[in-house]
Amino acid sequence: MDNLRLAGARPDGSRTVVEVAGVRIGEGLVVIAGPCSVESEDQTIRTAVAIKKAGAKMLRGGAFKPRTSPYAFQGLGLKGLKILDKARRETGLPIVTEVIDTRDVSWVGEYADVLQIGARNMQNFSLLREVGKSGKPILLKRGMYSTLEEWLNCAEYILAEGDGQVILCERGIRTFETYTRNTLDLSIVPAVRKESHLPILVDPSHATGIREMIEPMSLAAIASGVDGLEIEVHIDPSAALSDKAQQLTPDAFARLMRKLERMRAFMEELSSEGESSDPEAAVAKGAAIDVFMDGVD
Ligand code: PEP
Ligand code: MN
Repeated sequence: MDNLRLAGARPDGSRTVVEVAGVRIGEGLVVIAGPCSVESEDQTIRTAVAIKKAGAKMLRGGAFKPRTSPYAFQGLGLKGLKILDKARRETGLPIVTEVIDTRDVSWVGEYADVLQIGARNMQNFSLLREVGKSGKPILLKRGMYSTLEEWLNCAEYILAEGDGQVILCERGIRTFETYTRNTLDLSIVPAVRKESHLPILVDPSHATGIREMIEPMSLAAIASGVDGLEIEVHIDPSAALSDKAQQLTPDAFARLMRKLERMRAFMEELSSEGESSDPEAAVAKGAAIDVFMDGVD
């Protein structure tokens, strides 16, 4: 992809680590979690406290919701941002929140630690330019009909504005399959790692739309080489004002986090496998793999 001047892979293979209030994305596995929408102070803060306890490193939550229907809940706007600010003060978790309009970028940036560009706005070039000027790290979701080349060119739009930093997030693409909300394209993860130096996350919530599929797809995403995950968690998913079917309860999220940590450790072990020629160490690793597989239910 020779049209990429800033988003493309570097000759020395080095990768970007985006640092957000002490959280390093592009090193280890970072989990961002929180509700689809900010609905109330109680819902957001209780969710934030629970995800922090479970090990999440950042809080997500939409105050501006890009909804299919104009009559669906559109988000709390400024009130939602103030709730996120309060959640940040109470938990210390940095905030990831979506901006959908060029006119809102500067003031949303006063509340957000990371500005999210949603799938529906991936190719909104004026919005990309505007967030590129904000000086904030940008979480750029893949458009539901977008190729890797189109996606990386959108990252290029942001980076071309200055010293911005971009985190990519695969969230499923549209295919003929309608059983799942989208089709999670995990093959994009190694492709991004080959073609770009930018960190890559997977969002299994929007990719599947089905709560039960979040665990297997998160484990698979770790196996594919992601730098992190973005997962929707709601204190009471059945009462959620958006994306009811795909949000996890805090308990389910805490259980998931324990498995993700084991998977991360397993992958780390696997990647160091080739480095040891000691047969005893290889046998010990084999035993570790058996223990891991026993624990997968
Ligand atoms: C979201 O993360 O809140 C969201 C709307 O996701 P997407 O843009 O991937 O549909
Ligand atoms: Mn959602």
